[in-house]
Amino acid sequence: MSFIELWHSGAPLYQAGLIGVAAFGAAAFVLLFFVSAPYGRHHRPGWGPAISARWGWVVMEAPSFIGFAALIIVCNPAAWAWCVGALFLLHYLYRAFIFPFRMKGGGKPKPLLTVLLAVVFNCVNGAANGYDLSRVEDPVWGLVGLGVVVFALGVAINHHSDAVLLSLRGPGETGYKIPHGGLYRLVSAPNYLGEIIQWTGFAIAAATPAAALFAVFTVCNLMPRAYSHHQWYQQNFSDYPSARKRLIPWIW
Ligand code: NDP
Repeated sequence: MSFIELWHSGAPLYQAGLIGVAAFGAAAFVLLFFVSAPYGRHHRPGWGPAISARWGWVVMEAPSFIGFAALIIVCNPAAWAWCVGALFLLHYLYRAFIFPFRMKGGGKPKPLLTVLLAVVFNCVNGAANGYDLSRVEDPVWGLVGLGVVVFALGVAINHHSDAVLLSLRGPGETGYKIPHGGLYRLVSAPNYLGEIIQWTGFAIAAATPAAALFAVFTVCNLMPRAYSHHQWYQQNFSDYPSARKRLIPWIW
């Protein structure tokens, strides 16, 4: 089934979910350039009740894993789709249940509002991706191979960059330092760049509307945040490397 056929033959709930993801992504892209998402270094009062960042991450990301797993188990697709789906599941297994416990300073507050928005998004996105992947009957093997390689490259960049950040704090520290090494030589947010490359790879491999939309959504969400991080570094460190770009090496 082609990309367009997958969209047209999808259940109405799936189509409504993807329209919702597209609208949310477009709104987030514009708004987040003006109002940075209030967590981490951009946390500030006035956003209502909060929970610890660590548990916020668990609650936010677990629905992606559960939603995707539920749909792919119910639909029981071909073996290749299970393999590509495993990339999605392994990522969210890490992001929901391992990453939060590697964070230092995970006791910082995270507004419930941001957690709830992410829960809704992740339920819809996880389920839509599991559903869509299960309906692909005739994969283009070249794209599957290319997508897996691009996904692996993104994971490597994301994990290395996050590891650099996590190594900056000693026990009990919650402040910020200038990260160095790896792609930090070129950009302020290489972990976000890796995340974008990763989901682009998944979209190439899966070749479904839901996966393509998720890759675009990731750009819409992380590009403004990379902008805010870069600006924050420049305002808070007088010795911040001036040649470093925000997200895209040598360009932006
Ligand atoms: P950040 O880069 O803001 O922070 C990652 C971790 O490193 C946090 O624990 C943070 O602490 C710490 N940290 C960051 N910068 C420094 C510094 N200069 N000195 C010391 N510690 C630092 O990433 P996010 O928290 O926004 O995201 C975490 C992961 O989740 C990333 O891999 C990201 O790609 C992914 N993600 C994916 C999204 C998607 O749309 N697919 C959306 C959002 C995130 P603190 O929390 O105290 O700031």
